[in-house]
Amino acid sequence: SKKGRSYLIGGNWKCNGTAESLQTLMKEFDNRGPIPKNVEVAICAPDLYIPLVKKSLRSDIAVGAQNCGVNESQGAYTGEISADQLLDVGVEWVIIGHSERREGFGMVGEDELLCAKKLKVALDKGLKVMFCIGEKKEEREAGITMDVCAKQLAPAADLLNEKDWANMSIAYEPVWAIGTGLTATPEMAQETHASIREWVKEHVSADVANAIRIQYGGSMKGSNAKDLLAQPDIDGGLIGGASLKADFFNIIHGVP
Ligand code: PGA
Repeated sequence: SKKGRSYLIGGNWKCNGTAESLQTLMKEFDNRGPIPKNVEVAICAPDLYIPLVKKSLRSDIAVGAQNCGVNESQGAYTGEISADQLLDVGVEWVIIGHSERREGFGMVGEDELLCAKKLKVALDKGLKVMFCIGEKKEEREAGITMDVCAKQLAPAADLLNEKDWANMSIAYEPVWAIGTGLTATPEMAQETHASIREWVKEHVSADVANAIRIQYGGSMKGSNAKDLLAQPDIDGGLIGGASLKADFFNIIHGVP
């Protein structure tokens, strides 16, 4: 672990799986050996299957969701699931601000303020949050990667109290690397992670900057995880495709 930070490895199953396929996967996970002491692991499952996952997933992996409502309570919010309800079924973590939700699947997406409000509601209710940020290909090419990340972080910094930051991580996920097989090189990812940590130091506090875990996401897999996780400012991963395979455990076992 780095400066006392433990690793955080999140699996993001996205909108994948059936009761049967996910149960088969969870059985495979059972046979993949112990999780190192310095690693915290959470699987973010589709909401429908959360009770099943709570029952069948090995008990040393926490359960998360992939989104939650911005509403502070239950009520007339058709199609939403509230933070209260996630907690009620034993969910500990939630992903907020994933680029796929920010993009809106080609329809209407979630803007920076909405993501920040969801983050605040989830933390206030007692969920832990993996808060996703990251630039698109054309933004990296234009040299504005950190401006984009700062724009996504700024409304969060406005809404959160300093203590809120203890219950969240930042998942840096360059959009061009998600599901594409293109991974940021360890050096490229490290450079952005260091800039994000510096941003947190300037806009929140040095203590929060030292303590917060920054996960890398985007085509992480067993074969490339080791070099990414060895970087001084990379404190874990958020894994899509490879979390639907036993290879997820090669990532977990790739921590230094
Ligand atoms: P990927 O997805 O690992 O399939 O690239 C990562 C994510 O979207 O969180």
